[in-house]
Amino acid sequence: MPEQSLYPVPAEWAKQARVDAAGYDKLYGRSLADPGSFWLEQARRLDWIKRPEIAGDWSFDEADFHIQWFADGKLNVAANCLDRHLAKRADQIALIWEPDDPKAEPRRFTYAELHAEVCRFANVLKAQGVAKGDRVTVYMPMIPEAAFALLACARIGAIHSVVFGGFSPEALAGRISDCDSNIVITADEGRRGGKTVPLKANVDACAAHAPALKQVIVVRATGGAVTMQPGRDVWYHEAAENVSTVCPPEPMGAEDPLFLLYTSGSTGQPKGVLHTSGGYLLWASLTHELAFDYRAGDVWWCAADIGWVTGHSYVLYGPLANGATTLMYEGLPNWPDASRIWQVCDRHQVHTVYTAPTALRALMKDGDDFVAKTSRTSLKLLGTVGEPINPEAWRWYHDVVGEGRCPIIDTWWQTETGGAMIAPLPGATGLKPGSATKPMPGVDLQIVDTEGQVLAGATEGNLVIARSWPGQMRTVWGDHDRFFQTYFTTYRGKYFTGDGCRRDEDGYYWITGRVDDVINVSGHRMGTAEVESALVLHPQVAEAAVVGMPHDIKGQGIYAYVTLNAGETPSDDLRRDLVKWVRTEIGPIATPDKLQFAPGLPKTRSGKIMRRILRKIAEGDVSALGDTSTLADPAVVDDLVANRVE
Ligand code: ATP
Ligand code: MG
Repeated sequence: MPEQSLYPVPAEWAKQARVDAAGYDKLYGRSLADPGSFWLEQARRLDWIKRPEIAGDWSFDEADFHIQWFADGKLNVAANCLDRHLAKRADQIALIWEPDDPKAEPRRFTYAELHAEVCRFANVLKAQGVAKGDRVTVYMPMIPEAAFALLACARIGAIHSVVFGGFSPEALAGRISDCDSNIVITADEGRRGGKTVPLKANVDACAAHAPALKQVIVVRATGGAVTMQPGRDVWYHEAAENVSTVCPPEPMGAEDPLFLLYTSGSTGQPKGVLHTSGGYLLWASLTHELAFDYRAGDVWWCAADIGWVTGHSYVLYGPLANGATTLMYEGLPNWPDASRIWQVCDRHQVHTVYTAPTALRALMKDGDDFVAKTSRTSLKLLGTVGEPINPEAWRWYHDVVGEGRCPIIDTWWQTETGGAMIAPLPGATGLKPGSATKPMPGVDLQIVDTEGQVLAGATEGNLVIARSWPGQMRTVWGDHDRFFQTYFTTYRGKYFTGDGCRRDEDGYYWITGRVDDVINVSGHRMGTAEVESALVLHPQVAEAAVVGMPHDIKGQGIYAYVTLNAGETPSDDLRRDLVKWVRTEIGPIATPDKLQFAPGLPKTRSGKIMRRILRKIAEGDVSALGDTSTLADPAVVDDLVANRVE
């Protein structure tokens, strides 16, 4: 059976809670009972040029399909993240930058300095002819200039579209063309894990397939050699010499687009998710404060790349809107070794670190010594996002990293949702390993069966959201019909998340995996997360992925891919042992039919396992693996195909 143990709210958290258990019930209750006044009140946390008088205005029905929040309000997102803090926090550190190379010097920017840098960058963009509504592609390493660039776009009302710096020229070209963006901001090279990434060269290589591209702004990051194309390419540092650091923020409608971001593509062709200004910023800011209990003076570290929505909402917009000190890290969690992430926590006295289960599993695999030799006494909270966290990894995070002191904030959300949707409030919600716990205010969750019947009480089914929330995406770029078809037609009148979910007797939500990944063995529906968690629990297993495969008798059988811990060797005995292990942990119905040892699993760059590829391999359909351009390491696929279990 899945983990059920409850970790109650620690006494000292309950005592100084911003929101306690009773407070959460009240807040959540009001958010649904009286959404109009609730959201107008919440909107006061932002600084408006014109304060809105209407909150949500939306319908998920086909005949009248529309989503708007605070539509009559006017604001500027960058001014909310910078200008409004200048009176009180001009000299507080806004951004700490930790370089890839542990021996290199970190950089720090106060709110006043960050404000000046953003204005300068904004003026460079203006000088290049960028105007409100233009799409600006950002293909950058994790350096401060990436933050300046995004906030500069927000300041002048341009729509940024960040493409992860690890993506190939083809993936970049596709995203530039999809949104018809004619300018790219990039750097000479990026640095990650001691290696350089040829960003500018990739932009050059993509240009032939991206006819829209007319201008390239190049930030000098490593000093590596690049070829500049006259008339198209400009050095940022040269352009920046000729502009001032005064740039008034553009007044924007709350519903004016803020950014476009392509989803990670773990389930199919990436979609250009569009977020707008007012509702998105409110959501990022509110959830950052509530779920992570951000307090003035805390050092906050979201370890995600700004190429992902997590980096948008929780490296930049949420924390800066809240006047936080936010840390941006250029490198990898486990380079030069598995201590690095905890060393960075010590070096900058980080209060909260927010990362992904995939990173935690990788660190766990290298053993506890790498953690034990760091201090981590500054930490007060530990966050996770991206996938269901296996209870085994949860407990390791809690017991080994946090030494039992730090609540684990498991946040369920999507690129589409703008910010956290299900997450504990540390002073209010007891924790259960593997559960993201309870909905944020205004998030009206329902679990439905395949016919769309709403299921009550403790149950399992498909997760839908019955009403709009301010941080909701507004459209798929260039294809509003695809937006409606993808999310609002499976269950009429509701937003379908694509995820399976269980609700327990205490009202806690447990994401069971993507609905498309549910395996049906002899009529028993099983989430992939449960079987994978059982495998990961085995002392020799580091990571596992399971998929369904056709089976003559059972309809579907279970095909498991297993990565062993460092130093373990695959063998037939171990294979038998693992199969038996799952039988005992979950029951005979979950017995894997085939088990393949895999040195690596196909993952997106954000660390999500691409099960659709594993499914094809399990089915023996290896000629049609689909789009693999967003894979972190396409080479692992060859190994998987070669060692497929017949
Ligand atoms: P695509 O939509 O292109 O397939 P993607 O869904 O991987 O890409 P994201 O928006 O980054 O892109 O991921 C959201 C998904 O990640 C959720 O739908 C859910 O399946 C999973 N997820 C995120 N956080 C959690 C969490 N805390 N617990 C369980 N699952 C999570
Ligand atoms: Mg998705």
